[in-house]
Amino acid sequence: MSYQEAIDEVYEMIKNLPKEGQVANYIPELAKVNQDIFAVHLLTVEGDNYHLGENEHIFSVQSIVKVLTLTLALEFEKDKLWDRVNMEPSGNPFNSVVQLEYENGIPRNPFINAGAIVVCDILLDHLKDPAENFLGFVRRLTNNPKVSYNKRISESEKANGFRNYALAHFMKAQHNIKHKIDDVMDFYFAICSLELSCRDACHAFILFANRGKLLTGERVITVSQSKRINAIMQTCGFYDQAGLFSYKIGLPGKSGVGGGIVAVHPGNYVITVYSPRLNNKGNSVLGMKFLEEFTTITEVSIF
Ligand code: GLN
Repeated sequence: MSYQEAIDEVYEMIKNLPKEGQVANYIPELAKVNQDIFAVHLLTVEGDNYHLGENEHIFSVQSIVKVLTLTLALEFEKDKLWDRVNMEPSGNPFNSVVQLEYENGIPRNPFINAGAIVVCDILLDHLKDPAENFLGFVRRLTNNPKVSYNKRISESEKANGFRNYALAHFMKAQHNIKHKIDDVMDFYFAICSLELSCRDACHAFILFANRGKLLTGERVITVSQSKRINAIMQTCGFYDQAGLFSYKIGLPGKSGVGGGIVAVHPGNYVITVYSPRLNNKGNSVLGMKFLEEFTTITEVSIF
């Protein structure tokens, strides 16, 4: 069965399922999206594309971006980065405050909010114009100069980001945030507001399927870094649903409360699914269902 046949067949299986889940409404602007859009795009390491639905529709990537900030920060800091953030699954919601206090302001991993905020603080050491420079990195990966942030969404999150500010203040008290809180948080809200289509997201993540290289052959990270970032996606990409995602889908991946999920089959492909209704863990309901059926039907697995 070809990937296109598998995508089409799985869509037939899930398209009439009851509309479960809710769009994220703690960021008011995010709640305004069209809830019924569904899109999927698959890009292979050979450069072949397969898709269904609105694969060019841009959506708010939210936490998906945290894989790319980690990638850039690791390039700058190498293993020193792990002095300031851990690499263990948190078993807690992505915005949890409680664990951070027990663990003295060292976040469990770079994909929960606290960990991503520390990664932003680290990037401020290295980037002159952080938001612009990071956007340049994403444009290079996607080969799409139109990729951009959404100011309405970052401002909406900033106006309501009390929990994230709480995390940042607590880490500042523990000396794990070096820069001014406002500078770190403005950068954090900007990166979360990045918008990509399913096609763009596949291109942005293809290096993790392609042993650290873009499809042009250009090397971005080492084979070993690519392996390690996939490992962190596998264990931490879905917060307190990382185990379930591993069990049902069996691929490294990353979700965002915008409703996107990117999953990587190392050596093979990247697949991105978008459907904005989320379960109570902040992961796209239909996105997870689609990927579960897709990896089952194709019988190609890393396990
Ligand atoms: N910007 C969102 C937040 O900080 C990202 C969360 C997510 O996508 N899980 O809450």
